[in-house]
Amino acid sequence: MANTTYSEFKEKLTNVFTLCGIDVPTDEKINKLYELSELLTDYGKNVNLTAITDTDGIILKHFADCAVLCDAVPEGARVIDVGAGGGFPSLPLAILRDDVRVISLDSTAKKLSFIDLAAQRLSLANISTMHARAEEAANGVLRGTLDFVCARAVAALPVLSELCLPFVKKGGVFCAMKADSAQELEACKNTFAKLGGELEGVREINLTDGGETLHRTLITVRKTGATPKQYPRKYSNIKAKPLI
Ligand code: SAM
Repeated sequence: MANTTYSEFKEKLTNVFTLCGIDVPTDEKINKLYELSELLTDYGKNVNLTAITDTDGIILKHFADCAVLCDAVPEGARVIDVGAGGGFPSLPLAILRDDVRVISLDSTAKKLSFIDLAAQRLSLANISTMHARAEEAANGVLRGTLDFVCARAVAALPVLSELCLPFVKKGGVFCAMKADSAQELEACKNTFAKLGGELEGVREINLTDGGETLHRTLITVRKTGATPKQYPRKYSNIKAKPLI
C-alpha cells in the first residue's frame, strides 16, 4: 500500500522545490521521484539504507539536496558518484537529467543492490553501478575519463579530493556536496593543485520546506591537468596523511 498518495507527494515536492528556487520537474519525472520515495520508504523498513525514510525528509534532504546539483552538470556528461550509498545523488540526478549517464560507485554491495533495483523499477537506462573502492577504481580504466565526479557525505574534502579528482578528465569537474565547508576548504589550499585541479566555485545554498532550513555548499574544482601517477594512494595512507 502507498505511504503517500501521488498527488500529496507532487504538492509537497512542488512546494519545496519552489521554496528552494529549484525548477519543478515534469510530471513524468515527479512520478519517478515518487516511485523512488515509495521504494526507499518500503526498503528502509527492512534494510538500513538511509536514516531518512519519511516522505517530507526524503523530499527536502534527498531530492531537493540532490536536485541543486543538476545545474552544475554539463549537457550529456559522463558522471561518477563516488560513495553513492543508497543512490544519492546518483538516482535523483539520473531521473532529473536523462541526458547524462551516471555510474554509482560504492564499496558496499548491499547499497548498490538498491540502486540496481530502483533503476530497474523506474526504467532508468542511464545509471549503472560499480562495486569497488574509489582509490582502486581510480587507478583503473575510468581514470581521467569522467566529465563530472560528485560525492555527498563520504569523507572530508582533502581525502575526498584524492578519491575523486583522479577520475576527472582534463577540463571536467569534481563537485563536493557539503554542509559546512569553510574549514575543509582552508585545509585544501594546496590539495587541488597537487591533484591537477583548481578551485572554481563555492556555491552556498539554503534549502527549506518552510519550516526547517538546511545550509549546503557545492564546491566545484576544475581539472586543469593530469593527476600525478602516485595518487590516489592506499586508503590507509590517504587517511593517515591527507593531502594538504
Ligand atoms: N552518498 C550517499 C548519501 O549521501 O546518502 C551515501 C553516503 S554514506 C554516509 C558514505 C558511502 O561512501 C558509504 O556507502 C560507503 O560505503 C562509501 N565509501 C566510503 N569510502 C569509500 C571508498 N573509498 N570507496 C568507495 N565507497 C566508499
